[in-house]
Amino acid sequence: MLDSFHRFRLLSGPTPIERLTRLEQNLGDELGGARLFVKRDDLMSVGGGGNKLRKLEFLVGAALADGCDTFITTGGLQSNHARLSAAACARAGLSCEVVLTRAVPRDDVEYRRNGNVLLDNLFGATVHELPGDVDAIEFAHERAGELRTLGRNAYVVGSGGSSPIGALGYVACALEIVEQEAEFGPFSDVVLPNGSSGTHAGLAAGFAALRRDSLRLESFAVWADAASTHARTYDIACETLTMIDRAADLDRTRIFIDGQELGEGYGRPTEAMFQAVRLVAKTEGLILDPVYGGKAFAGLLAAVRRGAYDAGSSVLFVMTGGLPGVFAYRPAFDDGD
Ligand SMILES: *Cc1c(COP(=O)(O)O)cnc(C)c1O
Repeated sequence: MLDSFHRFRLLSGPTPIERLTRLEQNLGDELGGARLFVKRDDLMSVGGGGNKLRKLEFLVGAALADGCDTFITTGGLQSNHARLSAAACARAGLSCEVVLTRAVPRDDVEYRRNGNVLLDNLFGATVHELPGDVDAIEFAHERAGELRTLGRNAYVVGSGGSSPIGALGYVACALEIVEQEAEFGPFSDVVLPNGSSGTHAGLAAGFAALRRDSLRLESFAVWADAASTHARTYDIACETLTMIDRAADLDRTRIFIDGQELGEGYGRPTEAMFQAVRLVAKTEGLILDPVYGGKAFAGLLAAVRRGAYDAGSSVLFVMTGGLPGVFAYRPAFDDGD
């Protein structure tokens, strides 16, 4: 299904699936007989890992196939996508420029200098830091034009790497999950966070192409409200599906988005997020990040508590990475805000 696309390998193999036995015990009767699993997409060999690396296999692959020498992308100051782009480019021998804006109203030194920002510099990326009201993608295209006059050739990718080419990385993940079902049994639900939507869209396209129709795929919006997240996810999923399987179709009612965990907005902590991060850390020794995984897992716990998952169902949560964000939010974890 994916053989005809350019791909630069950044993962060393399938990521593991693990059962959350201790968390299941901790939730006890609340769980109503459902089983909980995690897909460890936080465990990858390059750059600290995370979901963006799957997209970057195809984005960097496309950049190299186009004969580019530079990769330019955009994001918030603590963008995991920017950090992993920097790492992937180091691996691929491309120069990397990241255009970062102030998408989150935080101004403490940890947020500005720690976490992903520290790593962007370590991986040798050129960092352009812009105020929040500047159009980052426009800046990126202008910068690409500037480089062109110097005889260079840049590949420009928007925030989160969520183009249909990037979403192919999560088609690959859907293939992997379906293969792993041979060992774990069929999953009834797959749950994940949704920011720029390429992860959800790629999985939706992949499961549609595999005709894996009984699986319910649901994401929790952390960037925008449920309606606009739904529209973007469906658009990217359809475009991606067209690239891999013209005979398959995807109904818009099969895209499930929950907007209840967004709180005051992107990157702004919620009490439910802190509780979810602490619970998973204390029961399983696993780290969720405060911007994405923490909010999505809070949504999963809320669904558990309202009995959304039937007895005997198997729920797979996709751990998308983002560990450096924990360090960027150090003051928030101290004070609970
Ligand atoms: C970007 C990101 C997401 C969201 O993925 P999208 O494809 O942008 O929806 C989730 N988790 C982490 C850690 C991320 O960095």
